[in-house]
Amino acid sequence: MILADAHCHLGSRQFDNNREEVLSRMLENGVEKAILICCSEHDRLASISLRDRSPGFKLALGIHPQDLEDDDPQRLTDIRKALTDSHADMIGEIGLDYYSHPHTKEAQLRFFEAQMEMAAELGLPVDIHSRKASLDTLNMLKRFPVKGIIHSYSGSAEMAQLYIKLGYCIAFGASVLFPNSRKPAEVIKSMPLYRLLIETDAPYQSPVKGHIHEPADVKAIYEKISEIRGISIEELAAQIELNWETVFRTAVLS
Ligand SMILES: [Zn+2]
Repeated sequence: MILADAHCHLGSRQFDNNREEVLSRMLENGVEKAILICCSEHDRLASISLRDRSPGFKLALGIHPQDLEDDDPQRLTDIRKALTDSHADMIGEIGLDYYSHPHTKEAQLRFFEAQMEMAAELGLPVDIHSRKASLDTLNMLKRFPVKGIIHSYSGSAEMAQLYIKLGYCIAFGASVLFPNSRKPAEVIKSMPLYRLLIETDAPYQSPVKGHIHEPADVKAIYEKISEIRGISIEELAAQIELNWETVFRTAVLS
């Protein structure tokens, strides 16, 4: 059984001292596929050397919507170059965050649009961060013949259907493990299994206080989601592998 973490920051500084251990725990748990999200030059360099460790590792680069205090257009030129120089597999995470950074909304829209244009041009899928911005996100995605993943989904079942109609997969993280979380389970029950992905967002979003989240922990989320859907973890893992392939095989809609 192969597990896939559809969003983790394994190149993050938080893993600089124990990346090898984190990697071996990951492989012990069968997590052979992972999208390595890079939001900085440090993370990009660390992730490029990791990518060679497993054929299932994918490299994603992008300018994060929470990182637009500096909105110099040169940053777009730089990311475009980094994408081709490092043979990136995906653009992300990109998107809109009106919850934590409402003051940079205008720059977020500009950078999101420019990076969606790059995705269409380069034929790459995208990994989308969207908080308190679902309508603007949906309207932006509609404009580009691009596929991808809605990361750490926390919206409604109706909105999930709209993203799915556009060809996107919906990824759920550790929020399903919180004792009083009901909404993600409802969405998971209502959506087609062939558009579901699972992620940790490690080192962030740990379900356990004081524990640094790591990709090996994706197994607990698989267990919970298989319980929610009433299928075996093996069956879920096999389906997720197929979903994963569709994201990377056919990035651009024909
Ligand atoms: Zn993330």
